[in-house]
Amino acid sequence: MVSRMGKRQATRKSPRPRRGAAWVREQALRVNAALAKAYPEAHCWLYFRSPHELLVATILSAQCTDARVNKVTPGLFRAYPDVRAFAAADLKDLERAIQSTGFFRNKARSILESSKDIVAKHGGEVPRTLEELTALRGVGRKTANVVLGNAFDTPGMVVDTHVGRIARRLGLTRHEDPVKVEFDLMKLLPPRDWVAFGHRTIAHGRKFCKAPAPRCGGCPLEALCPHEPKVFVKRSGEKSPNEL
Ligand code: SF4
Repeated sequence: MVSRMGKRQATRKSPRPRRGAAWVREQALRVNAALAKAYPEAHCWLYFRSPHELLVATILSAQCTDARVNKVTPGLFRAYPDVRAFAAADLKDLERAIQSTGFFRNKARSILESSKDIVAKHGGEVPRTLEELTALRGVGRKTANVVLGNAFDTPGMVVDTHVGRIARRLGLTRHEDPVKVEFDLMKLLPPRDWVAFGHRTIAHGRKFCKAPAPRCGGCPLEALCPHEPKVFVKRSGEKSPNEL
């Protein structure tokens, strides 16, 4: 029987298999299909009734759970019923209304400034292109892609921390930069699957492929995961999947 230390040394000595572009393309399709099978119901969990409400909810969801955002937004949307009401909001009042979602000063400013831009430059209508959305103050690519995909039915690849981490673990990208991950994934998957892939990957990250310690036992993608035997670079206190 090989000791755990013996296993680690053996693993370190084994050269990692080289994976070419064809493997990555096929892996992306395998992963996409496995996620679709495992998470058929995955969708946007944020509460919204209009593109602007989704924009606001998505800004609030940064570093915050969807459940927490959904507790705040019904009352927020009653107090500020449309984009013009948000654009005319008092910053301090808005900060108080969203305080429980965290990072409330930055979020309030992003909501206020993007709402002012929508009123001033787009006649009060949320724009429908990535370029116009990301030109709004306080709106980044992730938020813009959420709005495109879920309010306008336009393909958008959302890369949050779950999607970036899981794409790397499954061998779909080597990049840490979310924009580079987004471009890698867009090249690998058909546009019609981008939105669902984001929802399903986020669901997978919440249920199994957590940071820093994934729950590999029972993971529906384990057979596809190239980290076999799963040895992660350990940071202090972090468990590798083999130790869970
Ligand atoms: S086997 Fe583990 S590391 Fe691989 S996708 Fe599943 S949870 Fe993530």
